[in-house]
Amino acid sequence: PPLAEMHPVKALFKIPRWRQLTQHWDFEARPSVTHLLEHPFIKQAHGKDVALSQQLATLIREQQNVGCKTKTKHERINTRKTLIIESCPDDDLVNLEFLDETIISHLQKRYDELQVYTYVGDILIALNPFQNLSIYSPQFSKLYHGVKRADNPPHIFATADAAYQGMVTFCKDQCIIISGESGAGKTESAHLIVQHLTFLGKANNRTLREKILQVNPLVEAFGNACTAINDNSSRFGKYLEMKFTPTGAVMGAKISEYLLEKSRVIKQAAGEKNFHIFYYIYAGLYHEDKLKNYRLPDKTPPRLAVQVSQHCKVMQDIVSSKLYKEQFDAIQDCFRIIGFTEEEVNSVYRILSAILNTGNIEFTAITSQHQTDKSEVPNSEALENAASLLSIGSEELQEALTSHCVVTRGETIIRTNTVDKATDVRDAMSKALYGRLFSWIVNPGDDGMNVGILDIFGFENFKKNSFEQLCINIANEQIQFYFNQHIFALEQMEYQSEGVDASLVEYEDNRPILDMFLQKPMGLLSLLDEESRFPQATDQTLVDKFEDNLRCKYFWIPKRVELCFGIQHYAGKVLYNVNGFLEKNRDTLPADIVVYSLMDLLSKMVVGQPHFVRCIKPNDDRQALRFNKDRVMVQLRYTGILETVNIRRQGYSHRILFEDFVNRYYYLAFRAHQMPEISKENAVAILKQAKLEKWVLGKTKVFLKYYHVEQLNLLLREV
Ligand code: ATP
Ligand code: MG
Repeated sequence: PPLAEMHPVKALFKIPRWRQLTQHWDFEARPSVTHLLEHPFIKQAHGKDVALSQQLATLIREQQNVGCKTKTKHERINTRKTLIIESCPDDDLVNLEFLDETIISHLQKRYDELQVYTYVGDILIALNPFQNLSIYSPQFSKLYHGVKRADNPPHIFATADAAYQGMVTFCKDQCIIISGESGAGKTESAHLIVQHLTFLGKANNRTLREKILQVNPLVEAFGNACTAINDNSSRFGKYLEMKFTPTGAVMGAKISEYLLEKSRVIKQAAGEKNFHIFYYIYAGLYHEDKLKNYRLPDKTPPRLAVQVSQHCKVMQDIVSSKLYKEQFDAIQDCFRIIGFTEEEVNSVYRILSAILNTGNIEFTAITSQHQTDKSEVPNSEALENAASLLSIGSEELQEALTSHCVVTRGETIIRTNTVDKATDVRDAMSKALYGRLFSWIVNPGDDGMNVGILDIFGFENFKKNSFEQLCINIANEQIQFYFNQHIFALEQMEYQSEGVDASLVEYEDNRPILDMFLQKPMGLLSLLDEESRFPQATDQTLVDKFEDNLRCKYFWIPKRVELCFGIQHYAGKVLYNVNGFLEKNRDTLPADIVVYSLMDLLSKMVVGQPHFVRCIKPNDDRQALRFNKDRVMVQLRYTGILETVNIRRQGYSHRILFEDFVNRYYYLAFRAHQMPEISKENAVAILKQAKLEKWVLGKTKVFLKYYHVEQLNLLLREV
């Protein structure tokens, strides 16, 4: 059979050379994991129990009031942890008259009362509570089901509900864009959205519900790791799409991943760890006494060790801990529930074990009269282990690591590798294997009506920033650009073209920075690609090339620090160290392709109606009830929230063509069987009949505020 259809381990057997492996080892043709989720789910129960949820809200509020009156402040906070308080005008920053300083105090006051969510128009601000709140139970899902937004306090479920209602009402794909720094709560928010959408889509079928909810923990085991900032940091960008039938019943979910930080497999910064899954399987197999079956040594493999201030702390006791073993069991359950066969799970473990064994392969130089750049593997145990797990011969593997092909004038020549080069190839092979494995596990399926949820790493600025940070920060520039486009630029353009008065709102356009990165042929990424193609290029020649060609105020070469360049990102200044840029760019995809994959992501988002969740980290110590004003202020600025408050206050988030408007809402003012003429006047008649205020008419469209649409939809339901 073609390689693509072969079992992964068998496919490896056929392709000994890692280079070919990374280029042609195509898992895509295999029925994807998520494909298994996409069995159509037929139940269409759709009655909305608005009355019930309102009763519940009242009940909860009554309890709340009783509780609040009789308790001390501390106890009251505890009560609020479990109960919801009534919504009030200051739930939405747009309702308030503000100076920057007041916004912060306002958010702080809410945070102290454990009101972690606040609106800015239809954007949700989510402050990380750093403690478990009991506001995510099924009762709360009911409470936030198809009701007017202003009826309840702000909540992540309300955002999910708005996306769901938008999809069902307008038959239009939706997308929820979650952004924020590392540790701000993006991934938690994404989980909560999936949870609520699963509820709204009536996934009563237990198996389907479980499958959808298990996808996240599984993907996170492979894509998340403990970093200095977040114990469960996502080291990849994730776009999760929930699929629905036209009537809004959930059918399944699919995930696309972007820019997995593969270098983590090989090396982690001080105090950080490898991807969770390695610890889970090592501990799991250790406890089940199966390390031998996977040729894993009793002594913890170096790739699991943690660097603590230059010393390598072997993780034996931690790795063999009960906690990891429990996680291992949980992951086994995920595999089973999602529908992996035992053989597939076994292959996954074999590949992971092979990666760990590969880390133990070392090289020494062979020096002879004629040749000085040859290397060999002195201790063959690790080599044999890795080869056997991958079902290839150990000689073949050794050859693949210690030599490479060069094609000159149509002729293929085999050249030997130096020790350094062989080590690079070894590491590149591990990264490629892990990257392929990850894609295979999260492999995307096909299309349908959907709500997409984007959870992508936030802006990063460390003491030392490398190629990975550059990729992440470019991705954030693009997302910021998209946000700006959506909120500001498009808004202004549309107002103008419709002849609606829009006092122009000033905003920081980050387009020039994006151009500096992406322009061809003189953008930073093109220059990097070009330099990567020269075998003689060095870090210094790369810096020189940047300096000679990039002339703009967002780029500079610092005088006192060597081999560095600085970028003025929209979110602040970052100094990048070019060390390793060329290799990383050569062995990963060329930088250009990465940016393509991002464009692909953006084009996906652009077709859907966007909803934004901006996650904010109130402190850097991961402490509950601690609010650092300066840190919050910086994040509000980076994410454009301050400007958003302004524009949203005057803004009209919905613009509907007269035709669509009359078609959709005519029976609020006319008889159901008497379709009126499509005209501006009839649109006005409907608006008046519905008793809406402060709407505006453009040349072809009705301009509505977000709460108008809610009012209209509520009226529709009552008809
Ligand atoms: P990264 O970019 O590193 O992946 P992130 O923005 O995805 O970071 P999360 O992993 O979602 O951050 O959140 C970090 C931690 O904050 C969580 O592990 C959890 O302890 C806490 N947290 C976030 N949101 C909530 C919430 N709604 N309720 C309780 N705890 C939360
Ligand atoms: Mg995350």
